[in-house]
Amino acid sequence: MNTYVSTRGGEERLNAAQAVIRGLSGNKGLFVPEVFPQLPVSIEEMQGMKYQDVAKIVIGTFFDDYTEEEIASCVERAYDSKFEAEDVVPVVEAGDACFLELYHGRTAAFKDMALSILPHLLKTAVKKEGEDAKICILTATSGDTGKAALEGFADVEGTEIVVFFPEIGVSEVQRRQMTTQEGKNTHVFAIRGNFDDAQTGVKKIFNDEEMAARLAAKGVKLSSANSINIGRLVPQVAYYIYGYLKMVEMGKIAMGEKINVVVPTGNFGNILASYYACKLGLPVNRFLCASNENKVLTDFINEGVYDTRRKFYVTNSPSMDILISSNLERLLYELSGGDAAEIRRLMAALDSEKHYEVSGKIREGLAAFYGGFADVADTDAAIGRMYRENHYLLDTHTAVAYKVYEDYREKTGDTTPALIASTASPYKFAKSVATSIGLPEEKDDFAYVEALEKATGVPVEKGLRGIDKKPILHDRVIDACDMAAEVEAVL
Ligand SMILES: *Cc1c(COP(=O)(O)O)cnc(C)c1O
Repeated sequence: MNTYVSTRGGEERLNAAQAVIRGLSGNKGLFVPEVFPQLPVSIEEMQGMKYQDVAKIVIGTFFDDYTEEEIASCVERAYDSKFEAEDVVPVVEAGDACFLELYHGRTAAFKDMALSILPHLLKTAVKKEGEDAKICILTATSGDTGKAALEGFADVEGTEIVVFFPEIGVSEVQRRQMTTQEGKNTHVFAIRGNFDDAQTGVKKIFNDEEMAARLAAKGVKLSSANSINIGRLVPQVAYYIYGYLKMVEMGKIAMGEKINVVVPTGNFGNILASYYACKLGLPVNRFLCASNENKVLTDFINEGVYDTRRKFYVTNSPSMDILISSNLERLLYELSGGDAAEIRRLMAALDSEKHYEVSGKIREGLAAFYGGFADVADTDAAIGRMYRENHYLLDTHTAVAYKVYEDYREKTGDTTPALIASTASPYKFAKSVATSIGLPEEKDDFAYVEALEKATGVPVEKGLRGIDKKPILHDRVIDACDMAAEVEAVL
């Protein structure tokens, strides 16, 4: 059976269910497989399978302490009619690339892919482990995770969910999606600060042992829905394999041929999932990591130095406005060959010096990655170009990826077929998208949604319709230093 260990070492060796419940390890490390698992069938043998069946195989491969029936039930309940696309993640060809549309779930962003299933994986884990504590999910969000987690956990028995989002930086549609959330167990707070402040605050709560003891006395256990939870990462591996199979089916590649994967990156969860897929046997030539002006990762991949001592930009791709990409730690762990002492050293340097430099195996391993970035003007131009030339709408995050992909091709001449992760509906960022394709100014985001639909004929996702008319149920704005107190008050 697979065991999960902390990227920072230590004695803990858990099964998957325990790792999903815990979220983060005791020494602040992230849980990773001690030995990387192998698929029980070849990728070729999965050709023709529907999404749910690919997901069952992939998730079952990592989480082998769950029974086959348990995995099947989690998958079937997650990827059902909540997804508007029949094949869950359609692959669409446009402008010399294939787009893996990951945004057809309830909240119209790719976070739904993992957060539709995490509550089921967690509930099953709690039952398997005989936990009787109530699970409280704490989540910091740059916009999309929060809503997807709220939808996933709303009214799930035995859970509470608390979401913190930065007061400035999320789009109006994103904010409204969260502040109108229904469900007796949902709690939403805006915080004065940016995403990193919110994420740091949440991590601090997780590491507060006295608070944990007080909560335990009340029968409550904290867990995380952020992409640091292995239960979020693993379901994402499935769609890269499925996307590849679709490209074969569409005649874009031959079975076994390598592809480039392009991912608009923030916390490094999505692109790490593609790396995990590659470790399972997916033929990948290069991983293109796309950033906006907050280009810490571009610089890291190019120079081997991770340095957060820089200006923080609020951009029109807010889910990527991040300077500390938590899941990078898992990549460093893999590239170092599981050298937990080295990861401890690097993360301690990040904590105290705000930067670190990698060398040796890690630096060499980074060669499989290409780092590039696009600023707001380039992003808008890419949206306009793609729409004019192909009548295909990109959201701002996906447009960052597309621009980086164009730059990469020009710079390297590499024409390997590419799969671009399309991470949000263009309607979530309607103002930027509408103005990028030349539509006139409107009074608010919701008017932009309407105008964009009218002009393009691309249907708005169900989950985004009419949210401007729903009552606001959460309107608290708090300081980051008060996050812990608010959590205790809620519980
Ligand atoms: C979260 C998010 C990203 C970044 O994904 P990571 O896994 O954090 O790198 C990109 N685009 C959108 C729309 C997102 O919601």
